[in-house]
Amino acid sequence: MDHFHYLNGQLYCENVPIQELAKQYGTPLFVYSQATLLHHLRSLKKAFEEAKPIICYSIKANGNLSICRLLGEHGAGFDVTSGGELYRALKAGPKGAPIVFAGVGKTAAEIRMALDAGVLLFDVESEEELWTIGRIAQELGRRAPVALRVNPDLPPKTHVKTDTSVKGVKFGLDIETVVEVARAALGHPGLELMGIHMHLGSPILKTEPYRQGAEKAIRLIEQFRQQGHNIRYLNMGGGFGIHYRRDEAPPADAYAQAILPAIRATGCQLILEPGRFLVGNAGILVSTVLYRKSTGGKHYLIQDAAMNDLIRPTLYGSIHRLWPVRLPPGVPDRPPLDMNINPDQGNPFLDFEGSLRQDVVGPVCESGDFLAKDRPLPRMEPGDLLAIFSAGAYGMSMASNYNSRPRAAEVLVTDATHRLIRRRETYDDLIACEECCLLPAGRSQ
Ligand SMILES: *Cc1c(COP(=O)(O)O)cnc(C)c1O
Repeated sequence: MDHFHYLNGQLYCENVPIQELAKQYGTPLFVYSQATLLHHLRSLKKAFEEAKPIICYSIKANGNLSICRLLGEHGAGFDVTSGGELYRALKAGPKGAPIVFAGVGKTAAEIRMALDAGVLLFDVESEEELWTIGRIAQELGRRAPVALRVNPDLPPKTHVKTDTSVKGVKFGLDIETVVEVARAALGHPGLELMGIHMHLGSPILKTEPYRQGAEKAIRLIEQFRQQGHNIRYLNMGGGFGIHYRRDEAPPADAYAQAILPAIRATGCQLILEPGRFLVGNAGILVSTVLYRKSTGGKHYLIQDAAMNDLIRPTLYGSIHRLWPVRLPPGVPDRPPLDMNINPDQGNPFLDFEGSLRQDVVGPVCESGDFLAKDRPLPRMEPGDLLAIFSAGAYGMSMASNYNSRPRAAEVLVTDATHRLIRRRETYDDLIACEECCLLPAGRSQ
């Protein structure tokens, strides 16, 4: 249940009209629904109830402090991939919230910071990293809790840019040699090998890769235990798919059925690292139509959100549903998920009277700056608002200042109230880290 709906032709987030938010905070604007976030967290907990999983919210999906705080208050820990994300987790999370630290390039400073913070686990991605963590921990008179991230070498399962478990990617340790690495770590005074980590990629719309990965994990856990390691954690990562188009994602129960047998077989504590699953459909991006134009047989809708706000369409070829915030007369209220306006998927609501196939583009100076291509949309007027759905994950967290565009504001809605959780950037913010200086002429000139 995602709490975005149309009522009398108006889009609402919970009980707040989007139009009201756009008026108060301006556009482009990210709007998040608290009820939706918590609903997704609850549904994951329920599906995996038997295993009482440690759910570590993957901060890179959306690092806003208020969102981290909300999830932390409701029992989530955090999955971080950098010192900056660890900083966010420590700022926003409740004291003692479990934190797992993944990433192929952890620096010595980040490793020290994580040891100081008392992370639950380092998810180790290479042999050299393992020895570096061990040495730093030893220097500090500590033993670092580690899980080895294994690349289970599975067939392709998602976009090539986000598939992290096919052979030859930069992530994790090779499944063929990881047992040798574990053996070498035995008895290391700075390391305590406590688990296995597998993040397969994202988004993954099938459960089969999880079943295959978990089966391989069972075997590895047996081998590590035979070596003498006390393996307590199985971290199956994140990557659970969501409905971007209409109903393509399996329910949380289906992922649980694929993963839980490995927990029963090993008795390990399950860790999950959902990002997209929790926030993806809890957020929309709202923009304002600026201009329309037609050229070369194409119709363009130019609006004020751009690739710097939401890079997924141009980076991954992702489909985001989008629809007017106020429906034109004659267009009925429908659940936003019914607006599968992907022209390839044959939807009965696609080509209603008065619709026009349009490329929805932003003001950035790149032909890759688009949010949708060839989308049947009602005719819209300058000043009309547009809602871009499923923008809660990898939207704001991947936003940039390209073209010197101040980043959008973010608002969190609960029931009939709303709160600004990140103000819109100003022009002064854009240059706050820079110097405007002139160096004396050097000799080479
Ligand atoms: C990105 C990432 C996740 C979260 O992926 P989602 O698809 O957002 O659930 C989890 N674990 C690791 C290690 C990641 O890099």
